[in-house]
Amino acid sequence: MKKLEVLPRTPLANLPTPIQPLPRLGSELGIELWVKRDDLTGLAFGGNKTRKLELLVADAQANGADTLVTTGAIQSNHCRQTAAAAARAGLKCDLVLVGEPPETPQGNLLLDHLLGADIHWTDKAGQGMKYDQVMAELGRAGGNPYAIPYGGSNPLGVAAYALAMKELLDQDPAFDAIMLASSSGGTQAGLILGAEGHGFNGRILGISIEPVEEELIGIIRQLLTDTVDQFELDLKPENLAIEVSDDYLGAGYAVMGQLEKRAIERFAATEGVLLDPVYTGRAAGGMLDLVEKGAIKPGQRVLFWHTGGPPALFAYNSQFSSAGR
Ligand SMILES: *Cc1c(COP(=O)(O)O)cnc(C)c1O
Repeated sequence: MKKLEVLPRTPLANLPTPIQPLPRLGSELGIELWVKRDDLTGLAFGGNKTRKLELLVADAQANGADTLVTTGAIQSNHCRQTAAAAARAGLKCDLVLVGEPPETPQGNLLLDHLLGADIHWTDKAGQGMKYDQVMAELGRAGGNPYAIPYGGSNPLGVAAYALAMKELLDQDPAFDAIMLASSSGGTQAGLILGAEGHGFNGRILGISIEPVEEELIGIIRQLLTDTVDQFELDLKPENLAIEVSDDYLGAGYAVMGQLEKRAIERFAATEGVLLDPVYTGRAAGGMLDLVEKGAIKPGQRVLFWHTGGPPALFAYNSQFSSAGR
């Protein structure tokens, strides 16, 4: 793990992020509940991608890049944080977003515009081709674009979360379980690697936001292998346990249902913590269900790793009714 600690980082995040108890929600659930506030990393409303970007931007700068290029959904928190990281580092940013430009940009898309990103629209089927085309055009125009993968999930992104795991264990090593929203897999892969490197034995349960269980486990397994290879870590990636639940995919990616909505409202009103409609609302909804089903034992110490995302709430405002308030 020492090899990861010495990787160059461009400072973008306010670290360490706090861990906080959620005493009222915890007592309702009969567990000792805590939250790791990676929504407070601080880069243009923060989130988990900021940690990954500290390493990715340092690598871009070491390679003489002038532009960060990445891709995601219309309300991508990753794209918003990449645009902010580029602006902080004096780089340009090109984003390939899936969808169609709305008349009035909301939430993360509004912030992408304010942060000065150049936006290229595509449909899902054409996403990879559009991305390659944007990269090629920037190169032809004499630029030096730096490709950041979907979700910032490559060995550098994984390394960032192995370091985050150490940060948590220095704050409090005694959790029975960590729960988080898992999607492109880099965050969970990093936590698993950090847990192995620093001797954390609790569960690390990823609530899948999009891929089905076998697919997400495969993605995380590959990220672990690539990261161990790239940094020549003294670990056997095939021995690492990966725990994922795909029980909460609901009506699909970025579709907010009752599960997400209730979790958002409950966290906000009970503890003053804002979740988001796509990721943390779904993960917290899953966590509440698992506790209620008894899959998490009463009295256990559980950490909810808050990965950010609340700016997307403003793009979903019409789905929250004020009736009865
Ligand atoms: C990207 C994102 C995740 C998922 O992290 P991965 O590393 O892609 O698995 C979770 N929560 C939020 C708010 C995100 O933006």
